[in-house]
Amino acid sequence: MPVKKTNFQINQKEPDIHVNEPPERKFWQKQVPFNIWYFIVMMIFLYFFQTTMQVKREQIPYSQFQNYLAADQIAECVIREKSIVGTLKQIDNKTGKPGHFITVPLYNADLAKELEKHGVKYSVAIESHFLSNLLFAWIIPFAVIFLLWGYLGRKMGSAGMNFLNIGKNKARIHAETEQKVTFKDAAGVDEAKQELGEVIEFLRNPEHFQRLGGHMPRGVLLVGSPGTGKTLLARAVSGEAGVPFFNISGSDFIEMFVGVGAARVRDLFEQARAKAPCIIFIDELDAIGRQRGGPMVMGGHDEREQTLNQLLVEMDGFDTSKGVVVLSATNRPEILDKALLRPGRFDRQIVVDKPDLKGRLEILKIHTVELKLARNVDLEIIARRTPGFVGADLANVANEAAILAARTNREAIATEDFETAIDRVIAGPEKKSSTLSPEEKHRVAYHESGHTLIAELVPTGEPVHKVSIIPRGIGALGYTLQVPEKEKFLATKNELLDQVAILLGGRVAEEIVFGDVSTGAQNDLERSSELARNMVCSYGMSEKLGALTFGKKHASLFLGTDYGEEKNYSEDTARKIDAEVKTVIETSYKRVRSILNENRHILDDLAARLEEKEVLSGEEVEEIIKKHKN
Ligand code: ADP
Ligand code: ZN
Ligand code: MG
Repeated sequence: MPVKKTNFQINQKEPDIHVNEPPERKFWQKQVPFNIWYFIVMMIFLYFFQTTMQVKREQIPYSQFQNYLAADQIAECVIREKSIVGTLKQIDNKTGKPGHFITVPLYNADLAKELEKHGVKYSVAIESHFLSNLLFAWIIPFAVIFLLWGYLGRKMGSAGMNFLNIGKNKARIHAETEQKVTFKDAAGVDEAKQELGEVIEFLRNPEHFQRLGGHMPRGVLLVGSPGTGKTLLARAVSGEAGVPFFNISGSDFIEMFVGVGAARVRDLFEQARAKAPCIIFIDELDAIGRQRGGPMVMGGHDEREQTLNQLLVEMDGFDTSKGVVVLSATNRPEILDKALLRPGRFDRQIVVDKPDLKGRLEILKIHTVELKLARNVDLEIIARRTPGFVGADLANVANEAAILAARTNREAIATEDFETAIDRVIAGPEKKSSTLSPEEKHRVAYHESGHTLIAELVPTGEPVHKVSIIPRGIGALGYTLQVPEKEKFLATKNELLDQVAILLGGRVAEEIVFGDVSTGAQNDLERSSELARNMVCSYGMSEKLGALTFGKKHASLFLGTDYGEEKNYSEDTARKIDAEVKTVIETSYKRVRSILNENRHILDDLAARLEEKEVLSGEEVEEIIKKHKN
């Protein structure tokens, strides 16, 4: 249950964020574009057409040809390089048409004269092997190579076949103009909606917005756990603003050949500029936006880096007044390249949070509109049972419940169906975070209230922006978010001590209220110990040890960004350091205990409200505290 101090950044240690692996696509379905098959079949067909559908000709010896000629039987003929074909005057009995013949000529310089003498229409033709040459020398070998490549690519399960996707993927970059999704389809994300409202305003009327001196961010990054509705919101923005929507996923840019992804980025922006005002939506930005220059991997990241660079160039280059807004979504903002987050790029981040109780109820309402519910089904009870569920989970619950009801031939969906559906979704493969039992929720509410109250009551504590007990994943059952009033570059000893106190607040609250402690405070303790140790070892804030630093931190060559520590002090000093760190923690612990004991009534009130509402805003927290202080 970490105390968050960062300015709207998702805690790096949070494990609830995982990559959405795209489903493996079948070779036959996806890898070979349909038109290649089409082309091959057409060519083979054409070849047979050409060879078999030719006019039936009788093969005759040259002597016979000369006989026909002498007898004035030939109507016309074509002299080719290696043959003479022609038509007889005589009518063929079988076909009822003049007979056709073909013969292999002898070299005869006087042939032309003879033909003229007998009044035969004749012409000379160069024999054409174009079609068969094309087929045998070019198309068939290439087709074989393509297929072989595809087969190998599939065998290796790699991006080997992506080459063939070039044509297809390109086709996918097209604007969706008729967007039916609107804000009505997304619930429980009011803050995000509110922030996106400005983007919509701008897209509806870019010139007007500009005239009033409005300044539009080029890039807006939606950050949140999988299934919270980021993609949905992006679509809804396009639907609300009534502008075209270019939807592409970060992984679509990554191709086998260096430069293809970059070309695609260029293409995308070009198309978007032509359709402005419009939205470019890059889903799963982390696929291309990962930090560059990380640990070297064989084969390198050339393609991805080029694609990313091109994206940066395009974002810098375009003119916002034209009304192109780049929306993007990720569930792993911490791995994004810093360059992407710089001003002028994705400088606005919007957090799409997991829904609270009210939000979950609204989402359930949306997804049950078309379902037939039994009269006694109370969606609020279902919402209460599902803390930690995201929109996608709730949509899933509604769907599962409908399936269950249908399977048991029920007239309408009953509460039991929802109960079973919830259990299924919790146990489901992709659901990693758990929901809390009522007892756990009670405990977590006190824990987070402890953090919150200490943060509000210590002299240098920054105001609490939001406190939540919606589980965010393993090891993070709730969180308290503080937003610094102004950016700080220095911290005084008193400020650091207050920080330690805030971190301890959760655990101490649990101890006071329940008489024992839980495992939920592990992260808090790690961080408070580290802070205390830094005060002693790095900042020279211990009176006993004085203004010295101990231990030398250095970037390790082999571990990349990790730090190794060099111990440059004696065992005796090490013991003293440990003792000092312990003193800092113990003193803080006592301090927190007394603050919480003194304000137990506020703690109880805060915890009760939190348990009820699951999320409290900064104002609500302040209100509760003020009520008791007066
Ligand atoms: P994300 O992109 O954040 O992973 P999606 O937008 O793809 O999540 O959500 C998947 C589905 O879950 C949506 O199509 C929608 O049916 C449902 N859903 C998610 N969030 C919400 C929400 N806030 N309100 C209503 N439905 C939601
Ligand atoms: Zn905590
Ligand atoms: Mg998505």
